[in-house]
Amino acid sequence: MKKSEIIESIGLKGNNAENLRSKANNITEKIYGNKIFIRGIIEFSNKCIRDCKYCGIRKSIKMNRYEMDYKTIMVLIKSAVKIGYKTIVLQSGEFPVHDDMITDIIKESKKELDTVFTLSLGERDEQIFKKWRNAGAERYLIRIETTNRQLFKNLHPDDDYDTRIESLKALKKLGFETGTGVMIGLPNQTDEDLANDIIFFQKNNFDMYGVGPFLPHYLTPLKNASITNVDTVINFVALMRILTINANIPATTSMGTLRKGLRSEILKSGANVIMPNHTPLEYREDYMLYDNKIGVQSEPDDTLKMALCDIEKAGKIASFEKGFRSRI
Ligand code: SAM
Repeated sequence: MKKSEIIESIGLKGNNAENLRSKANNITEKIYGNKIFIRGIIEFSNKCIRDCKYCGIRKSIKMNRYEMDYKTIMVLIKSAVKIGYKTIVLQSGEFPVHDDMITDIIKESKKELDTVFTLSLGERDEQIFKKWRNAGAERYLIRIETTNRQLFKNLHPDDDYDTRIESLKALKKLGFETGTGVMIGLPNQTDEDLANDIIFFQKNNFDMYGVGPFLPHYLTPLKNASITNVDTVINFVALMRILTINANIPATTSMGTLRKGLRSEILKSGANVIMPNHTPLEYREDYMLYDNKIGVQSEPDDTLKMALCDIEKAGKIASFEKGFRSRI
């Protein structure tokens, strides 16, 4: 597809949009069948050294900051494995103080549990990534957030686009299944920016793409930004599937927050992964990346039920297997 065609497709509505989405679903089903991979996510800390303008846990927000200790995280990982999760996603703000604890957790888990780790902990030097890789972590996710450099700069007062690219390159080099992604509907982001994001994904051939709508958070500088268009989000996911073919693509919590039931629609439009939140209820209020995040009043069992319900509504089958990227 030429860039102009991608831009046009992002704006499709009605039957044309339906055709695009069903084409994406056909590709997904050819590669992954009817299965949706389930991964359990543990948001173990909201401490963060970054001040990203969109984020509800940015460092300048005065809020209760928590960090689970080694023992608590190990107990949670074991309970997730007991439920059946074969991938655990460990996510936190960017907070290098806990790096050694993460290494120990991966090493210890690998001794006794048959589980895959996805880390989503922000940028680091290659040396730290290497420690985590050697400890046994298989996957790492860092969203580039937007490939428009100026927009990236405006949104990240204390971060640098090229450094993030370096992190992504280091992860690939170390053999992680590497994921990236963007937010859709950021203030001043155009459809051409979104088309460029997809072209960036195509060129760099990542293993997974975690994308989602930008949603305002009331304590951030972007609190008054307008809400993302739902059709744009669905079309974007469909285009990612059509143009990247076999990457793992989740239906994210932010999609379910943008509109009730949207995750189901996304699972019929190119996505093949869902990541129920396995964080205990007591921490959830403090990991509100955006307003009205779904599941904030749910325990892990209920969040899993909600995800299973979305899968069923999409006419798909939940799969607890490890779910590596297909090489077909
Ligand atoms: N610190 C790690 C990092 O930066 O990669 C992981 C945690 S970070 C909070 C996870 C993701 O949340 C970010 O990549 C960002 O895309 C998303 N996020 C943060 N604020 C958001 C918002 N207001 N709307 C939608 N997504 C948001």
